[in-house]
Amino acid sequence: MQVLATSTWQMNALVAQRLSVGRVHLAGDAAHQFPPAGGFGMNTGIQDAHNICWKLAAVHRGEASAALLRSYDAERRPVAKARVKISPRPPTPLLQTHRNPL
Ligand SMILES: Cc1cc2nc3c(=O)[nH]c(=O)nc-3n(C[C@H](O)[C@H](O)[C@H](O)COP(=O)(O)OP(=O)(O)OC[C@H]3O[C@@H](n4cnc5c(N)ncnc54)[C@H](O)[C@@H]3O)c2cc1C
Repeated sequence: MQVLATSTWQMNALVAQRLSVGRVHLAGDAAHQFPPAGGFGMNTGIQDAHNICWKLAAVHRGEASAALLRSYDAERRPVAKARVKISPRPPTPLLQTHRNPL
């Protein structure tokens, strides 16, 4: 077996301070990172994508104003913050939390 690439991975419990700034909307691990034992990371990211995509489509088609996009942060960030709280935590040396996500 040949190893083609390696990288480091660090366990975190973080939520971005804002999910939207102007025309930029964060989703998935770019928006939040959880300890993996809860199984929330991918699920939450897919829900983020579903939330922002139908809103972007509605605005693009002229069926809603751009103000609708402001609901993305309001709806999704509380979910991410709640999942940081309920994610099962490993022993503290494994969890490198560099800043308070809440
Ligand atoms: C051990 C472990 C177990 C897990 N188990 C679960 C589970 O059971 N259930 C669950 O829901 N989640 C689980 N997760 C979490 C899940 O894997 C992540 O939340 C999910 O993969 C995040 O998807 P993402 O697309 O947001 O980010 P990523 O999967 O990190 O995708 C980002 C992509 O962007 C690419 N990229 C980065 N920089 C650039 C650049 N500058 N230009 C172009 N491309 C770039 C990267 O190469 C990568 O392909 C687990 C995670 C770990 C580590």
